[in-house]
Amino acid sequence: MATWQCVKNCGACCQLDPGDRPDLPSYLSPEELQHYLSLVGADGWCINFDHSTRECRVYDQRPRFCRVAPEVFHDLYGIEPADLNEFAIDCCREQIDGVYGDRSLESLRFEQAVGF
Ligand code: SF4
Ligand code: SF4
Repeated sequence: MATWQCVKNCGACCQLDPGDRPDLPSYLSPEELQHYLSLVGADGWCINFDHSTRECRVYDQRPRFCRVAPEVFHDLYGIEPADLNEFAIDCCREQIDGVYGDRSLESLRFEQAVGF
């Protein structure tokens, strides 16, 4: 069975362009939406994303909406813990393919890491 994991040197989910995420107001509170929008840089990438290392500069303090955890996904998306694995894989796949392309090295590495 495929098992979700975050792969190093990806960062696709740190591309925050709200134009690509029209449903944001449906799952973020007004305060969280404001926080989200405050993080979006001119190029659409999060201002906390370090492009040279492809890591989050504030990882330990990253917002709730950046965290893949059962309680977060249940609160934001109504996903039951039993469905988290599959849902998280789909989310990453969609984001990676959208940012880097479905034939990118990032996509390939993710598919290999989760066991496809
Ligand atoms: S898109 Fe998925 S694999 Fe890539 S950095 Fe985000 S959580 Fe990790
Ligand atoms: S706060 Fe960190 S994990 Fe969240 S989008 Fe920005 S760089 Fe990515």
